[in-house]
Amino acid sequence: MSFGAFKRKSPYIVGNWKMHKNVRESLVYLDNLAPHLAKSQAEVGLAVPFTALIPVIQKVKEMNLPIHIGAQNMSDYPEGAFTGEVSGEMIYDVGATFVILGHSERRHFFKEDDAYVNRKVKRAIKENLDVILCVGETLEARSENKVKVSLEEELKGSLEGLLEDHFQRICIAYEPIWAIGTGRVAKPEEAEQAHIYIRDTIKAMVGPEVSEHTRILYGGSVKPETAAGLLAQPNIDGLLVGGASLSAQSFGSML
Ligand code: PEP
Repeated sequence: MSFGAFKRKSPYIVGNWKMHKNVRESLVYLDNLAPHLAKSQAEVGLAVPFTALIPVIQKVKEMNLPIHIGAQNMSDYPEGAFTGEVSGEMIYDVGATFVILGHSERRHFFKEDDAYVNRKVKRAIKENLDVILCVGETLEARSENKVKVSLEEELKGSLEGLLEDHFQRICIAYEPIWAIGTGRVAKPEEAEQAHIYIRDTIKAMVGPEVSEHTRILYGGSVKPETAAGLLAQPNIDGLLVGGASLSAQSFGSML
């Protein structure tokens, strides 16, 4: 199952567990999420810690759950002497279908810049993984009216050299940094405006066909109460949910 382009009609809702949940907790979560998945009209994904990938994927297969399982990061190298790293091939090998790249926590805490993210995106596509590429402006950029410039810079840098076909594997997540984990969600119209900038930038990079079909998700303190208002915007094609995805009940209620 590949996501990305040509599937904007159904919303895509992805949970990002970050560094939460051991194996036992992950498996209990799936039991609790299953009834919500059965009723969901959205396409659903979960980005879990590396250590949970194998047991979660096994259980998803056993229970025949309609959900994509992915990782939250990967190396830009295919293999080699890189202690502590995990390659795209390893992620694909255990049955994961996607990877989140360029998350602001990786950009900030681990100093990942656009060039590095770009190498990872290219590597992920080579390894047959779909990519959720995160971009988003700081509070400072927003207050200086530099949202558009900042999004353009991240998009052009992170997607440099990618061709139209590659976009079939790419979803963009607009995640304003001031909204991540802060409880401060962007207003739906504010997010919609940024999604329009992103679509316009993709159009300028690879043309209208691709930009029209690329899914752009919103992420940043989404809660069950705010999900519907965001999804009602024409250019918001889904959600990337951190904190509120940690409880199967709250994530399930968004589906
Ligand atoms: C995220 O980390 O991708 C995210 C959106 O987090 P939160 O929902 O907790 O703001």
